[in-house]
Amino acid sequence: MEDASTGSDSDYSKYWISWFLSSKGNEYFCEVEEDYILDRFNLTGLNTEVQHYSQALDLITDNLDDEIQDDFRGTLDVQARLLYGLIHARWIVTARGLAKMLEKYKKADFGRCPRVLCQSQPLLPVGLTDVPYEKSVKLYCGRCEDIYSPKSSRHGSIDGAYFGTSFPHLLFLVYPNLIPPKSGPVDFAPNMRGAGDVEASRRNRRGREDQEPPTDSMTEGFSTATAALKADRYRPRIFGFQVHEIAKLQRWQEAVRDKQISRLEQLEENV
Ligand SMILES: [Zn+2]
Repeated sequence: MEDASTGSDSDYSKYWISWFLSSKGNEYFCEVEEDYILDRFNLTGLNTEVQHYSQALDLITDNLDDEIQDDFRGTLDVQARLLYGLIHARWIVTARGLAKMLEKYKKADFGRCPRVLCQSQPLLPVGLTDVPYEKSVKLYCGRCEDIYSPKSSRHGSIDGAYFGTSFPHLLFLVYPNLIPPKSGPVDFAPNMRGAGDVEASRRNRRGREDQEPPTDSMTEGFSTATAALKADRYRPRIFGFQVHEIAKLQRWQEAVRDKQISRLEQLEENV
């Protein structure tokens, strides 16, 4: 038990990143590839954000000297988490990082939208600021385009800067076919096709249209008009009749929305 790194204490197991990822509450994080961490260029500026930077880096890359005192090890672990989190925020907006987070999104590792009309749409983590120690992580729903607090307090206390403000939006920019439809059930299958399958999808469209109402948002690929908010809306009703004031407002909002969307559609047809 004298040597912390070989002791039975699982907190200090040999591979720091594996231990970190498997710890309860860290389910939102993906694995940052070692190559990325070892390329100092990727870590530019982080030395000013993290105390005991080089030792923290040694700890997460399993190169830490065994001589390190146990009481310092605790402090170092806090800094190592901060460093890993800040590296993570940079990593998940790279092509390889996006792909890793995409796998987690497909498994709904970040939970599902609590809004009933979003039909259990999987969520994506997002920060409200890129500065650490300011705001905890929130979850973004691509369907209602709103954000939510994580259900569990373990996830609710994760620093939002470890995911950053751009991640979910960049994911949908890089994978526009993943932008969820604004209504209907969650279905990854039609959205997961690569670009090479576009022809096949076109050939299949006639068949698909026979089976289901056309979900114009997905079959035609990405356009500004389809990205416009067409989310299902909740309508308060009393005995089936819409509540007067709200109904009036909603009818007006929807008329404005639909006018904008048809203008966008016209613009895009003319391109
Ligand atoms: Zn939602």
